Amino acid sequence: MNGHIDDNLDLVVAYRTLAEHHILDAYGHVSMRSRERPDRFFLSRALAPELVTIDDIMEFDLDSEPIDRQGRDLYSERYIHGEIYRTRPDVKAIVHNHSPTIVPFSITPDVQIKPVSAVTSFIGLCVRTFEIRDFQMGADMRIITNKLGRDLAGVVADKPAALMRGHGAVLVASDIATVVSRSIYLEVAAQQLMQAMLMAGPGGRVITLDDAEVAAVQKRQEFGRPWLLYRTKALNRIAAEAGEHAHEH
Ligand SMILES: [Zn+2]
Repeated sequence: MNGHIDDNLDLVVAYRTLAEHHILDAYGHVSMRSRERPDRFFLSRALAPELVTIDDIMEFDLDSEPIDRQGRDLYSERYIHGEIYRTRPDVKAIVHNHSPTIVPFSITPDVQIKPVSAVTSFIGLCVRTFEIRDFQMGADMRIITNKLGRDLAGVVADKPAALMRGHGAVLVASDIATVVSRSIYLEVAAQQLMQAMLMAGPGGRVITLDDAEVAAVQKRQEFGRPWLLYRTKALNRIAAEAGEHAHEH
C-alpha cells in the first residue's frame, strides 16, 4: 500500500476541501484512479467527507467492489466511480456531489448552466443532465447498481461533467486538482448565473462565454494555484487534529 500513500493523502485533501467549500456535506464523495493498477480506484469508506482521514481510504475494482472490505460500510453510490473509470481511460479523478445551487439547474430543463467566467469555462465544453427516468422509472434517485452507473457514464460521455436531475452532479478530470477546483467553480457558476438571471429579469439578457472564448481559456487553464492553497489548508488542519488527539491521550 505504501506507493499509494501520497495519492491517498491528496484524496483526503480533496474530501476536506470539498467539505470546507460546502460542495460535499454529509453526502457525496471523491475518488482517484490507482496509478499502479488502472483497473482499480481509491474511495473513502462510507463517511461524511469532513471526517475522512487516510485510514478511511479503500481500494475498489471497476465493478466498485472493495479489494478488502474490512467489515466496513460502503457508499451506496460507489458504482458511479467504477463505471466511469471503465468507460473513460483518460479520467483519473471523479467527484459526485449534491452541490446546493446545482440542483435547481438540474430540475429546470429550459434553463441551462453556462460558463459565466474564465474559471467556469469548462462548462462550455457541454454539461448535459442525466435523467434517471430515461433508464429506470420509480428509482430512489441514487446510482446504486453497475447498470445505473453505466447509464450515467453514457450521459457523461466524453464531457467534463453532467448534472443529475433532482440530485446533483458528477465531474471527471485527468487529475485531482482539476476535478476539485472545477467542482467548486461549478457551484460558483450556478450562484452567479442565478443572480444574473434574477437581475436581468424574465427575458432579460445574460451574456456568457462563447465557444471561441471557452476554447481560448481551455488552452491555458490549469489549477495548480488553487490546489496548493487547498492542500496547504487541509494538511494544516489535519496536522492540528493529530496534535489535539495526541494531547487527549
Ligand atoms: Zn448522490
